[in-house]
Amino acid sequence: MTDCIFCKIANKEIGTDLIYEDEEIVAFNDINPQAPIHILVIPKKHIPSVVDLSDEDEALIGKMYTVIRKLAKKYNIEESGFRIIVNCKEDAGQEVPHLHFHILAGKKLGTKIV
Ligand code: 5GP
Ligand code: ZN
Repeated sequence: MTDCIFCKIANKEIGTDLIYEDEEIVAFNDINPQAPIHILVIPKKHIPSVVDLSDEDEALIGKMYTVIRKLAKKYNIEESGFRIIVNCKEDAGQEVPHLHFHILAGKKLGTKIV
């Protein structure tokens, strides 16, 4: 998608340091971190949100968790823990309409969900 900021990051049209990359997935630091570690993991494929996933994306989503597991090891947060957040559309406050998983870690996170 030409106007999508995360597609541009994934396609390297915008220079952002990628902390992980394979054929299908990239990860990079959030520009406005909400915790000492705040990573975004995204598919290269433009999928606007969770509700836009199709059955053929099942393997891709499984792989997203494999990447999250690798990043947890890399950032040494396997034991201390982390939170994964996926916002879907307006009521959840999704700002960027390209599916992304937030990984938050590096401090005690609040326990309130809303
Ligand atoms: P959302 O609210 O859509 O779940 O989260 C979008 C996230 O993307 C926000 O945490 C925001 O800080 C981050 N973000 C928005 N634009 C950019 C950008 O150009 N580069 C990076 N690295 N992060 C971005
Ligand atoms: Zn996109």
